[in-house]
Amino acid sequence: MSFRIYHRCGGCGKKQEFENSKRFRVNANGNLVDVWLIYRCKKCKHSWNLTIYERTRPHRIPAELFEAFQNNDEETALSYGENVEFLKRNKVEIR
Ligand SMILES: [Zn+2]
Repeated sequence: MSFRIYHRCGGCGKKQEFENSKRFRVNANGNLVDVWLIYRCKKCKHSWNLTIYERTRPHRIPAELFEAFQNNDEETALSYGENVEFLKRNKVEIR
């Protein structure tokens, strides 16, 4: 089951539907890693990053999962798109 996700778009300047780009962004900063799942505004394609891991030590992320992030694994991206807890944590409006 997939959700419709709404968020105020920084590109359009109003609330729009966003879609899962199925791409992750991984940013290593010293010993800490941030991981996001990128969503895009359906109208203007403006991107919005939803936090999966924030300032986390890499060894705390399961190796298989970390690899999936780096390979933009579609199945993993879709499973986050259906993860209500993850979406709520990012203050997503679900309809
Ligand atoms: Zn937009």
